[in-house]
This record gives sequence, structure tokens and C-alpha cells, in this order.
Amino acid sequence: MPASVVLALVAPVSVPLPGPVRLVRSGRGCPACLDSYCFNPAECLHFLMVNVWADCDQCDGSGWSEEGSLSLFCEGCAGSGLVEYWPYSLPAGGVSDRAKARHAGHVVRLRTRVASVAVAA
Ligand SMILES: [Zn+2]
Ligand SMILES: [Zn+2]
Repeated sequence: MPASVVLALVAPVSVPLPGPVRLVRSGRGCPACLDSYCFNPAECLHFLMVNVWADCDQCDGSGWSEEGSLSLFCEGCAGSGLVEYWPYSLPAGGVSDRAKARHAGHVVRLRTRVASVAVAA
């Protein structure tokens, strides 16, 4: 018997069990892809630029989930506080300053990501 087989028999490889599925996100998600890390920042940036984004109606733009929810952040907007609207279905007050500021923040974040990808390529 080769030594490697003996070793494998006496020292079984311990496979760590996967931890519990975490519903709690590590951070607020991107409004476009709902992921906290955009895998295609250029696409997200495009969606943010061509569509109308305003306060999420589920969390009123706070990004937090309702009390008692398993998730820390709002399920509707992944914590970004922004959801996509059709221009004619915008909330009565239009896009709030809060939503505009958050939207601008995401645009800056994505532009930076897109720029760094372009440099690395
Ligand atoms: Zn994204
Ligand atoms: Zn929300």
C-alpha cells in the first residue's frame, strides 16, 4: 500500500461543515444588481444612469428591514434604499434629495470600480 493511501486512511481529511446560511448581508447592496459587490460594475453604472431611481417604497429609503425580519437590510432594495421607477410611477414628491445623494454615491463608487477595471485590463 503506498504511503499516501495509508496516510489518507489514518488521517481523514476533515471537511469543515458549511456554516449556517447567513441572511444578514455584510453591507448594503447595489441598487442595480442587489449585490454588495458588483460583478459587472459597468453594467450597474449603465442601469443607474439610464433609469430613474428613487426611495424604496418598502423601507421608505432607509435601507433597513422591518423590525423582526431575518435580514438586517431591506429585501426590496438590498439596503441601498433605492429602487428603479418608471418616470410616470415616481412617488408624489419625485426623487427626494436623500435618494439623489445616495444615487450619486453609487454612481461615484461604480465609476471608480469601472475605472480601476479599465486600468487593470
Ligand atoms: Zn451592482
Ligand atoms: Zn428598501
